[in-house]
Amino acid sequence: MNENGKELVESFTLDHTKVKAPFIRKCTVYQGDMGDTVTKYDIRFTQPNEAELESAGIHTLEHLMATYMRNYMDGIIDLSPMGCRTGFYLTVWGSPDTDHIKSVVIKSLGDVINSDEVPAVNPIQCGNYRLHSLELAKSYAQAVLDSGFNDDFIIR
Ligand SMILES: [Zn+2]
Repeated sequence: MNENGKELVESFTLDHTKVKAPFIRKCTVYQGDMGDTVTKYDIRFTQPNEAELESAGIHTLEHLMATYMRNYMDGIIDLSPMGCRTGFYLTVWGSPDTDHIKSVVIKSLGDVINSDEVPAVNPIQCGNYRLHSLELAKSYAQAVLDSGFNDDFIIR
């Protein structure tokens, strides 16, 4: 909360011209009134304002990563694509360190590359089941695995 009592949208405070993708950033740690901690991470695949993930590819990545990441860690609340289509927001219980999140993401991207099918691609379980591309999802996963996530991603 800022001084006016309004919640600030944290990502609007990030200078998107000063980062080098791909990277994983712990953006916000929320402390609940009941003592719970919830943390949001920015999992950035492409360079902001220079490249973006096609809708079909990011949608398939969402289905696959939401499934695979839960095999490697507990406490995942949500994984959602960013509207700008340059990456994902991950929300989890607690506040695991970024290196742990990174290892889970990397293992999950390895599973994406070995996937033969995409879970929940049907009109019952998905809001746009025709909008999928396993081929694109694999190519995005491979690109990030090839380059690795930048540890020093803030350009000064
Ligand atoms: Zn879907």
